Amino acid sequence: MARPEPRELTVLKTDDVTPHMRRITLGGEGMASFPADQASAYIKLVFPTEGEGRPLMRTYTVRHHREFEIDVDFVVHDTAGPASQWALETQPGDRILVGGPGPRKLLNPDADWFLIAGDMTALPAISVNLALLPGDARGYAVIEVLDRSDIQALVKPDNVELVWVINPEPDPSGQVLLERITQLDWLAGQPAVWAATEFQSMRKLRAYFKQDRQVPKTHLYVSSYWKMGNSEDQHKVAKRQDADTAE
Ligand SMILES: Cc1cc2nc3c(=O)[nH]c(=O)nc-3n(C[C@H](O)[C@H](O)[C@H](O)COP(=O)(O)OP(=O)(O)OC[C@H]3O[C@@H](n4cnc5c(N)ncnc54)[C@H](O)[C@@H]3O)c2cc1C
Repeated sequence: MARPEPRELTVLKTDDVTPHMRRITLGGEGMASFPADQASAYIKLVFPTEGEGRPLMRTYTVRHHREFEIDVDFVVHDTAGPASQWALETQPGDRILVGGPGPRKLLNPDADWFLIAGDMTALPAISVNLALLPGDARGYAVIEVLDRSDIQALVKPDNVELVWVINPEPDPSGQVLLERITQLDWLAGQPAVWAATEFQSMRKLRAYFKQDRQVPKTHLYVSSYWKMGNSEDQHKVAKRQDADTAE
């Protein structure tokens, strides 16, 4: 089936959620064709390039979906690219082309306990996943943020423990999240695992969950959301190669 054309949305509001997270609320007539209930689905923001070149696309998550409005939370990172720069500069009334939404990737609910992990790029999706868990769910969410002031109040079941990892520098070794996760008390029974983070970190987590913890495919979602030193276009290529060679 042909993909629907990106729709034009209007910036309604901008807000700083925390020092390194900027929220842009999008709405307008283009939302009339946006399907219902898309919190945590991904969207593609389209940035035209000079001349005849192909536009640049950047992937983001629907943090909240209200009738005719979505919130998108952008990490403000040091080496800004077109999307993070746009988020810093855009003003109410500006317009942007938005493709998608693509499928929502939620935790497998059929599990004894839950483990969610990720960095700030995954915080929007993690927030939605946590809020959708049943009230009696148990487990952990391990979340890497750039600064203590980037910690957010999240809706979650009482017995899901939030573990914040403060790391002001991107971690080229990809070890930071893994080290904290290996210190957790691994609970009994079948876990469902959801993790999204930087490419190297994703590879470390994937190896740990698959090989050390034998989490079956049915209960494991692990994805890289960005790659240090790579634009999203370069990251996409690395991701494809990695998927071809991953065990
Ligand atoms: C399914 C999915 C959902 C995503 N949802 C979100 C979301 O809701 N919010 C969000 O902020 N991001 C999200 N991301 C990640 C986002 O797409 C990337 O961070 C993207 O590279 C940002 O585009 P850019 O134009 O700012 O930078 P690019 O032009 O892609 O890259 C420019 C430079 O910035 C670096 N860079 C990119 N991201 C980061 C970062 N987070 N920290 C430090 N350096 C970085 C790159 O390595 C590169 O050196 C998501 C990714 C995927 C695949």
